[in-house]
Amino acid sequence: MSKLLSEIKYLQGVGPKRAELLNKEIEIFTFEDMLYYFPFKHIDKTKFYKISDISPELPHIQIKGTIKYTEIIGQKFKQRLVASFFDGTDTIDLVWFKGIKWIKESIKPNIEYIIYGKATIFNRQMNIVHPEIEPSVKTSSEIESSLQAHYSLTEKLRNNFFTSKSISKIQQALFNVVSSDIYETLPFYLVEKLNLLPLNKALFNIHFPQSTELLNKAQFRLKFEELFYIQLNILKLKYNTTKKFAGYKFPVVGEVFNTFFKNKLPFELTNAQKKVIKEMRKDMGSGKQMNRLLQGDVGSGKTLVALMIILIAIDNNFQACLMVPTEILANQHFVSISKLIQGLNVEIGILTGSSKKSERNVLHQKLQDGTINILIGTHALIEDTVKFKNLGLVIIDEQHRFGVVQRAKMWAKNTNPPHMLVMTATPIPRTLAMTVYGDLDVSVIDELPPGRKSIKTVHYFDSKRLVVYGFIEKQIKLGRQIYVVYPLIEESETLDYKDLMDGYDSLSREFPLPEYSIGVVHGRMKPHDKDLEMQRFVEGKTQILIATTVIEVGVDVPNASVMLIESTERFGLSQLHQLRGRVGRGAEQSFCILMTSFKLSNEARKRINIMVQTNNGFEIAEADMRLRGPGDIEGTQQSGIPFDLRIANLGKDTQILQYARDIAEKVINNDPLLENSNNIILKNNLEKMTSTNKEWSVIS
Ligand code: ADP
Ligand code: MG
Repeated sequence: MSKLLSEIKYLQGVGPKRAELLNKEIEIFTFEDMLYYFPFKHIDKTKFYKISDISPELPHIQIKGTIKYTEIIGQKFKQRLVASFFDGTDTIDLVWFKGIKWIKESIKPNIEYIIYGKATIFNRQMNIVHPEIEPSVKTSSEIESSLQAHYSLTEKLRNNFFTSKSISKIQQALFNVVSSDIYETLPFYLVEKLNLLPLNKALFNIHFPQSTELLNKAQFRLKFEELFYIQLNILKLKYNTTKKFAGYKFPVVGEVFNTFFKNKLPFELTNAQKKVIKEMRKDMGSGKQMNRLLQGDVGSGKTLVALMIILIAIDNNFQACLMVPTEILANQHFVSISKLIQGLNVEIGILTGSSKKSERNVLHQKLQDGTINILIGTHALIEDTVKFKNLGLVIIDEQHRFGVVQRAKMWAKNTNPPHMLVMTATPIPRTLAMTVYGDLDVSVIDELPPGRKSIKTVHYFDSKRLVVYGFIEKQIKLGRQIYVVYPLIEESETLDYKDLMDGYDSLSREFPLPEYSIGVVHGRMKPHDKDLEMQRFVEGKTQILIATTVIEVGVDVPNASVMLIESTERFGLSQLHQLRGRVGRGAEQSFCILMTSFKLSNEARKRINIMVQTNNGFEIAEADMRLRGPGDIEGTQQSGIPFDLRIANLGKDTQILQYARDIAEKVINNDPLLENSNNIILKNNLEKMTSTNKEWSVIS
């Protein structure tokens, strides 16, 4: 057995007690786990701050000096140890609240110490609380490195006297025993051709950098490897799926499509719409199964694109379905598509959670005998009882609301899997899309229909409410309609519900009947009632619609010109962008008003500023990823991608990611099954990774 698999407790200087802490706190069980516990940063050990230059604004800093005296201050349970530390320029207090006795005994006067920590001000005195402290003179056995690795530690580890330095010591003991057991994990030809640091050298230098250059090379090698294997896995899966399934061939563009195009199309398609339709026609004519993601900002006209490729499916004697996340949206698509295809020889059906049993029975029958060409619906479409005569195309709108599993289920609705198009208006940064939707081809609508005025976004504090109401009144007088949205994160939260109802009361007082009419939709209502309210708004019977985020996706009322968002601080960026996308759909100038209380966290303030500054979905997505990290972005959680990577960062290491993707593509193109002898190592490692990480095998 490789020494790397030995339990960590057997490493010199660890032992059972500390091993248990390492197990529990940071999931280190074996020598190998420890070796791959990478530092999050490195500090130049030769650089010291002068105490006289220190201010609390600085990040963690390093200083060198001696302890003048120590004293214990305070009563029994509130004691602290204060050491006065001097470096020739000034003094600073080092403070400990825990481990007082042990530390007092171990620090000695007249010895030079190196201190690492963050300066803060307390009682108008500058001090460093719980610093790391070590004698500046090295013992002779220590590995020389001018860059000191810093490891993240949990509170509990710190309380048990683990410091970055002690992890370093463990790493050193580790290298003494395992250095000859570290085998290369990439094929030699890649290491050589890409000029990568060999694994053992990279691991050594990540823990004990011998120079800045070697540290950089070590980081590059390890990040590359991590991202490369993810991409390799995705591309291999993608290859397997296209290999395994023949796709239905749609060779013709026939009467239905052409009649629609000539006689029904209400406007000129944008160039971007034409481009993506072409891409999909090519896919569907190729004989391979289409697996495509259509990204396009809110309002870019994805529905029309969806309809047009559905018509191609029908021309080729196939059925198509369009799946959407909410009933409101299903109804809206049903109504608008029905109108568009009036007069064509096409039958359309709708199926949602509230479709009646009797309706369902008729529908099931018509689907199986092929009478219905297009089925629109919600999750209800997925159910096993829903069977088609000849389903050839599945379109999933607002993909980020669905999971991987649901998509996979639709594959099974015909002998060969139907063509798949998933659409999303939550643009995710390109590099992230490459990973999250790595097995899909991507089309982008990067242009809005002409004549749209960009939405004006403003931020108001709650105290300006009367001004805002005045503005709304003017807009209504001009014939426009208004959305007012309240946060409702859990549809059952009573507090949120109360906010919404209070809002309704105060708006009703401000905009009373019969002059004005106000509607409400929220998740607690019966679907049928929701639809009625929605319909009244669509028809212009209500001027103000008070709603929760049920209207977030897809709803299309061109006459609505104001989106007023309450408690904006409680929404995420992509949600805000979606909500704002509900207005600006007509020819009139539209507005988005972000209301907040006075108290705003830094993060919330940043989100609001971004919303005010830009209307561009991609810019917002990039900002969102910077603020939250890639794992929290809507639409990525269910992707099956492991976001807590060891060293690479999907949000930041975009160049390395692109590089890793390119190399992985080359490898798979040359040897799709990784059977060449020099790729065996890749195959074996992939198998090892997918077996230990279940999620890896179900990527989107
Ligand atoms: P989304 O991409 O957000 O789903 P929709 O498909 O709902 O956008 O389209 C938004 C609005 O733009 C709709 O009212 C639609 O009729 C209109 N639209 C779509 N394509 C065009 C076009 N080429 N020219 C003008 N208006 C268009
Ligand atoms: Mg849409």
